[in-house]
Amino acid sequence: MIAKVQSGAVVGIDGYGVTVEIDLARGLPSFTIVGLPNAAVRESRERVTAAIRNNGYRPPQRRVTVNLAPADIRKEGAAFDLPIAVGVLSASGQLSCPVPDDTLILGELALDGKLESVRGVLPVVYYGRMAGKVRAIVPEDNAAEAALVRGVEVAGCRDLAEAVSVLEGGERRAVPDRRPERTGYVEELDYAQVLGQYAAKRALQIAAAGGHHVLMVGPPGSGKTMLARRLPTVLSPLDEEEAIENAKIRSVVGGMDGDVMTLRRPFRAPHHSASDAGLVGGGRGASPGEITLAHNGILFLDELTEFRRNVLETLRQPVEEGRIVISRANLNISYPARFQLVAAMNPCPCGYHGSSDRVCRCSPPQIKRYLAKVSGPLLDRIAIHISVRAVDPGDLDFKGTGDGMDSDEMRKGVLEAVGRQRNRYGTMSNIRSNADLPVSRFKALCSLDGKAEELLSSAQRKLLFSARSRRNILQVALTIADLEMCETVKPRHVAEAIQYRVPRHPAVM
Ligand SMILES: [Zn+2]
Repeated sequence: MIAKVQSGAVVGIDGYGVTVEIDLARGLPSFTIVGLPNAAVRESRERVTAAIRNNGYRPPQRRVTVNLAPADIRKEGAAFDLPIAVGVLSASGQLSCPVPDDTLILGELALDGKLESVRGVLPVVYYGRMAGKVRAIVPEDNAAEAALVRGVEVAGCRDLAEAVSVLEGGERRAVPDRRPERTGYVEELDYAQVLGQYAAKRALQIAAAGGHHVLMVGPPGSGKTMLARRLPTVLSPLDEEEAIENAKIRSVVGGMDGDVMTLRRPFRAPHHSASDAGLVGGGRGASPGEITLAHNGILFLDELTEFRRNVLETLRQPVEEGRIVISRANLNISYPARFQLVAAMNPCPCGYHGSSDRVCRCSPPQIKRYLAKVSGPLLDRIAIHISVRAVDPGDLDFKGTGDGMDSDEMRKGVLEAVGRQRNRYGTMSNIRSNADLPVSRFKALCSLDGKAEELLSSAQRKLLFSARSRRNILQVALTIADLEMCETVKPRHVAEAIQYRVPRHPAVM
């Protein structure tokens, strides 16, 4: 007798359907799994047989053949344990009803029949809804994650026996609701804590509003890291679609404990000793790297010049395309990686070049070698360059309130500007913020003052900046106009945007 159970697996961060077919035939007892299983899947037969016995069912005394279809995609992990066990019970007549076709089943079995959580449940259930599945039976620890997908009834189960009982119409355990709250930006970090850095905060507000990449150059102790770490406090929350994308990424990585779905944009700060695989993804299992974990959020690279040059080179493709393709054996896996790059570096090896409070002791060739560690093409993709200076306590006003810009105030401006961009770009899926706007669409979507255009062209002639710089300046000028709630990009907006491209770094332009 043949049984069929609907399950699923993940490629990249997307789920797809896998049909688990079980055939029981006469003959010497054996257990074969076909359909490109990896080692973990092949070991499934040991776990499944023990779990069946230890939950009070009869292990099959037949020739068992399990087929995982489609056969052309490699199957990984232990998530097929539960569908295989259910299929064996069904094929051997130990279930009181057939296994419904509209139910997704996945989970790893321990030898005692207990269900263990698996990775990638969210993408599979998400796929399942689109494929017309109405119910999902998953390990209890994955239930909240699966329940993020609206319209699919989720049953979280503790063991094989409970999964069987649910299939036979028994009661489901209540699923904790982990949908995020829409309100509340409770943060310990606030820009009010960074005093006297008005210019840097202004530039970061623009970056947050338009999704522009940022480079901060300044001496040690000038507050670059403090400034960067507070950027998430002024970003717009994730929208529903983005939140699901980010939850899918965490589901695949296996980092869903507790914090199932959040509307906070991720902030990732990998250390400069990070490997290629750690940063961009790959390695064993071709897992996603930091740039994918930073998707829809911020990738902060502190001490940019300390990163190995070839590691930084690998960032060019994702910075441009918002994705990274990892090649592995005969499979290319594409992961989303649309992040906002925030980088920080010292101006020279000693850190004090151009600083007023200490003398730089580096020779010009030393400085040149130091700056050359960061590739020009990468820097050219960064729209906002800021020089951060150490703040003299004497410059702060007597109340110590600094420049008066706190995160609440900055975020208010950002949200207004983001709202204007949403109206402008509507449902264009490839343009989410001003930083995505191609020059070819600029005239059609925005209004540019004639004088502003002249200013841009004369600056380009004088400063000889690249076409990419010109595009960056236009995008940043548009964000500045958005922050001002101004319909037209005016000369003053362009002038401020040019200032963020004036080379502070010989490798740029
Ligand atoms: Zn120096």
